[in-house]
Amino acid sequence: MQPYNNEKKTTKELSLVCAAAGKCGGCNRLNVPYAEQLKEKRKLVARLLRPYCALEGIIPMEDSRFYRNKVHAVFDRDRRGNVIAGTYEKNSHRVVPVESCLIEDEKAQAIIRTIRDLSKSFKIKIYDEDTGYGLLRHVLVRCGHRSGQYMVVLVLASPILPDKNHFLKALLKEHPQITTVVVNVNDRRTSMILGTKEQVIYGKGYIEDTLCGKTFRISPGSFYQVNPVQTEKLYQKALEYAGFHGNERIVDAYCGIGTIGIVAADHVREVIGVELNADAVRDARINARRNNIRNISFYENDAGKLLTQMAEQNAKVDAVIMDPPRTGSDEAFLGSVAKIAPEKIIYISCNPETLARDLQYLVKQGYRARKACAVDMFPQTSEHVETCVLITKSGEA
Ligand code: SAH
Repeated sequence: MQPYNNEKKTTKELSLVCAAAGKCGGCNRLNVPYAEQLKEKRKLVARLLRPYCALEGIIPMEDSRFYRNKVHAVFDRDRRGNVIAGTYEKNSHRVVPVESCLIEDEKAQAIIRTIRDLSKSFKIKIYDEDTGYGLLRHVLVRCGHRSGQYMVVLVLASPILPDKNHFLKALLKEHPQITTVVVNVNDRRTSMILGTKEQVIYGKGYIEDTLCGKTFRISPGSFYQVNPVQTEKLYQKALEYAGFHGNERIVDAYCGIGTIGIVAADHVREVIGVELNADAVRDARINARRNNIRNISFYENDAGKLLTQMAEQNAKVDAVIMDPPRTGSDEAFLGSVAKIAPEKIIYISCNPETLARDLQYLVKQGYRARKACAVDMFPQTSEHVETCVLITKSGEA
């Protein structure tokens, strides 16, 4: 297949490419040539980093379509009563039906269409956000890019899926790639997708995927990067910047299911991972064992709290890799890192605004950003770009 060509299009031409264009709030750069999108992101990151260091460049995605390994659909009925699966219209709770999407994994999309059709034949009641009646609220599909495994999460308002076995049989017949199905119960009137209760109704309750030669297990609620092709490039850049010699003791902060730390573990003496989400920490520990990594330990804690404790105990750390959420890090964490005073900090950020704010703080603590590189993890969107920065103590070159 030819890569999608983002030549400038009229609104009508655009609607032929994507029926939800302009309504779903997702790909707000569908109409902008890819080279131009890269330029925009590069400019944005370079501007925010200007006071600190130069930007080496932005690593593009070769084929910028169908990259999302996590696909979410909200279920609703249209005015005629037909079941629709789609996405919330930007800043509203109106559901825009999405028949197909240019950036989501194609098989995952097909699974969602099948569930939509099966919900009619199985007479599954669709949840109504206004009244709070009905059963099926959302479907989440996650897939392993390399493993080819698919996980389906049915988000229901109550735990019982009527005629469950026949439903599963029909779904698996259509999509034998599905390796696990989980019912997640969300009985609250909330805009959060997942509830807290879960029941595995088929398979193991998680999928596995391979990144940088290591295998990772991913549970329904654990964070996992949505663009695995670009994630490998990002992690390689982080390791290149870190330039480990083999004897370092490092921290992988905001470590999710342990991906970066486990990939780095072969190159250092010891890794300490810290993560707030309990499911992710459980996955991280299992992932370490699964990959035969023995020099890593994980702490379920707030990264700022753990680093504060480590600073109080005068812990010795050679490098900190940090990958906080969009809100960035905090003073408890950054101040403790400065006290521990590692030689290097590798900051991986999904939000250049908070990255710049945190850099300002680190500079005041005696650190200096040396080089940075952006990675386009989210083609066709304007606001999402990852950046990797090498930061060292300001006295050193
Ligand atoms: N490094 C991982 C995950 C990055 S996403 C990867 O590349 O896949 C950011 C992670 O930070 C999420 O897993 C989130 O649960 C976690 N997190 C958010 N706030 C945190 C905090 N205060 N302390 C520790 N972890 C936190």
